[in-house]
Amino acid sequence: MPYVKFAEIVLSIPLNKKFHYSIPLSCINQIGIGKRVKVPFRGRTIIGYCVGLTDVSGIKEIKDIIQVIDAKPIFTPQLLAISKWMADFYFCGWGEALETFLPFAVRNSFHAKTVNVVRLSKDEGFVKEALTSLKKKAPRQGKALEILLKGEEMTVSELSRVSGCNLQGIYRLRERDLVSLRKKPADDTPLFAGRHLPKTDHLMPTKEQERAIVFIKTRLREGKYRTVLLRGVTGSGKTEIYLQAISETIALGRKAIVLVPEISLTPQTIERFRSRFDKISVLHSSLTEKQRYNQWWEIKNGNADIVIGARSALFAPLDNLGLIVIDEEHENTFKQDSTPRYNARDLSLVRAQYENAVVVLGSATPSLESYHNAGLGKYDYVTLKSRIGDNPLPRVQIVDMRGEIQRGKRQSCISRYLELNMKKCLAQKGQIILFLNRRGFSSFVNCRRCGFVLMCKKCDISLTYHKKQDVVICHYCYHEASVPKECPECKNPGINFFAFGTEKIEEEIKAKFPSYRLLRMDSDTMRGNNAHEKALSAFKRGDIDILLGTQMIAKGLDFPNVTLVGVLSADTIIHLPDFRASERTFQLLSQVAGRTGRGSQEGLVIIQTFNPEHYSIIFAASHDYDGFAKKELEYRKQLYYPPYGRLARIVLRGKREEDVKERSIELAEKLKDTIKLYKNTVEILGPSPAPVTRVKDNYRWHIVVKAINIEYLQQVLTSIKDEPRISKKVQTVIDVDAYMML
Ligand code: ADP
Ligand code: ZN
Repeated sequence: MPYVKFAEIVLSIPLNKKFHYSIPLSCINQIGIGKRVKVPFRGRTIIGYCVGLTDVSGIKEIKDIIQVIDAKPIFTPQLLAISKWMADFYFCGWGEALETFLPFAVRNSFHAKTVNVVRLSKDEGFVKEALTSLKKKAPRQGKALEILLKGEEMTVSELSRVSGCNLQGIYRLRERDLVSLRKKPADDTPLFAGRHLPKTDHLMPTKEQERAIVFIKTRLREGKYRTVLLRGVTGSGKTEIYLQAISETIALGRKAIVLVPEISLTPQTIERFRSRFDKISVLHSSLTEKQRYNQWWEIKNGNADIVIGARSALFAPLDNLGLIVIDEEHENTFKQDSTPRYNARDLSLVRAQYENAVVVLGSATPSLESYHNAGLGKYDYVTLKSRIGDNPLPRVQIVDMRGEIQRGKRQSCISRYLELNMKKCLAQKGQIILFLNRRGFSSFVNCRRCGFVLMCKKCDISLTYHKKQDVVICHYCYHEASVPKECPECKNPGINFFAFGTEKIEEEIKAKFPSYRLLRMDSDTMRGNNAHEKALSAFKRGDIDILLGTQMIAKGLDFPNVTLVGVLSADTIIHLPDFRASERTFQLLSQVAGRTGRGSQEGLVIIQTFNPEHYSIIFAASHDYDGFAKKELEYRKQLYYPPYGRLARIVLRGKREEDVKERSIELAEKLKDTIKLYKNTVEILGPSPAPVTRVKDNYRWHIVVKAINIEYLQQVLTSIKDEPRISKKVQTVIDVDAYMML
């Protein structure tokens, strides 16, 4: 090998930059691209990642690499390329991106304790022959062999205990080559209690499923990058399609990654995959560090054909990746809300391109970005229109809460129509799910009589009421106004801000249905290990009649006995100060509706709202995704919101509000200067206080950058990419393709 002088190293710091280090003789045989190294940096020794080798460097005082950590590259060339892409696209450090690819324990070369396990090294015949003579000469060694003949492997100490043969005896067996010893992680707690699940066969696909499976298989056999958007109504059997696509992938000698939102990584989901496949690895947040370490190395060593997990499982070190499935692709949990702020769905396309793999994006309500790309022909598009067993989609009723307010004196959270149907459902021994959107942020201003909501005309975002100053504010462009004394639409003086708390509702239900068992599920009541899992299984067993909860109950669950779902207030979602508020409403209502009518009985969904004419509600009620998408895309187009434009959000936060405000104004001015070159193709909104003004003692402001395409957006952001390091008092974060606008 020609002598290489320098290594290009990236570090886990917020700089998208390669550092040169020289390669001392002691490292010359070990250094390699994709390996970790120890290097000196600002007086400390830190871990870096080697991304290149070179003979030229303009740097004068170049330091030596201290040590090469890995014997073999820890990153594949594809993963290195993806990390570079991430650093460029999301404005994070290259090393920061690479660091997120490794679980904490792997990154820190955590050494799990090991134990010695022993097993037979020869075939049974050979051992049995040896056994006859051993039994006489060394009966305890003979006993040990007999035990091993019965089962698989066991630890040395365990074998010694049950056979009465001491360690020396066992080592003697090894000398005679009858058994072999190997080291194994001590905490090899099996991830799955019953390791061997009975294997099930493929289900006989329905016609619609068959069409989708054949389509995806064809793409897989082509062995080229391609994305398939699979839209299937809830209960249409998308998982079966994933399973059969994975089978094909394995038959082709390749491997698969399945990403699901963390919340749907339930034992039930995992079991569906485990009952079909053997070499499967699961990565989720409740693994211990040791388990994660073991899983990662199992994958790295080629012992997994399938990896299933949340967001970060996209970086699993599989080689020969042939398929990536993203289930519930519209979910915002695929977007990470700390650095690097990547979206695993979008990044899965990047990985697939480097790996010549196929991506399947599955959802009942695809994101408008994906739907738009399918429309443009960038993705293939396959739909499943009916539920398995031809169960009808549930009937959806909209209840106009304006009428309720006028009739009743005291305001109730439960309409008479909902109450009536709850009684009916409970009398028939059915179960009920009542759904309430997360609390907070619900301070939009609306008229209780006609439902009118104050909006920013420029941004098409609902204005937020601020009690302290008694004003309404647009949290995109910072337009400020006083609260009108009467409704501009119907002249009703009862215009007010809106709030609805879970506890208050819980009280009301208890008062109305004292003899039924109610469970409230939200982040306050669901702390602690498995609280969520336990509550859901109690509900599934029928120990609970009414489940009251937030988002966390909307997803992926299958309860055949739920015949009524109530959405207590659709409005709190519709009026989030976020341009995706309508899309979220539609998605959530569709998801929630998908929770009922899964068994033999018909389901009913009741949606309470002050905005019964809102298109996101009307289309969700009639299960009309295409209708919704068409309408929503028209709105997005008018204001260049994604998918027509691209958007980034810059969040500034700090202890003192004046500092944050000052920095925000400075930065916005700089951006406004930059975009003059872009002649109305890029727009700066703000600065304004973020809708969530304070988090953990920090004041937050934000600036929204909106451009007609990603290139312009990237160029403008590049002009300020060093800003995050300018002020110590104020932290600045760039969030490209921001999902959360709160
Ligand atoms: P989705 O993910 O589209 O909501 P699921 O994959 O959960 O739907 O399927 C709904 C139910 O239908 C599951 O209980 C599943 O086992 C069952 N199922 C799926 N495909 C078939 C099939 N071809 N034959 C019989 N049952 C099926
Ligand atoms: Zn505005």
